[in-house]
Amino acid sequence: MTAELLTRLRKELETERASLVEDLRGYGADPDSEKVARIQGIDDNFADSAAATAERSEMLALIDNARERLAEVDEALLRMDEGTYGECAECGKPIPEARLEARALSVRCVECAAKRS
Ligand SMILES: [Zn+2]
Repeated sequence: MTAELLTRLRKELETERASLVEDLRGYGADPDSEKVARIQGIDDNFADSAAATAERSEMLALIDNARERLAEVDEALLRMDEGTYGECAECGKPIPEARLEARALSVRCVECAAKRS
């Protein structure tokens, strides 16, 4: 992998990381912990209503998704720091650059990623 491509992908991941952290803060969740400090836009007085429950679980699903994505971004960034980025985390084979360009946070080759899902 060229240094130029690596720099570009790192920038992409860092931008994504910043926006995920911002999203999590917007949802009232602490990006660095499992704790949800507060759920915005939901009044405690309506906590019992079905609508509030639905809204709350929807919000929690959004938070879960963002956290999962953030963990993937962090894993990819960590592998860049370690110099193992671009190698499959499972089998060690090189991940095609086209795959990395399409999805910068890929840390597994297509075969290994397919096995996990
Ligand atoms: Zn693999």
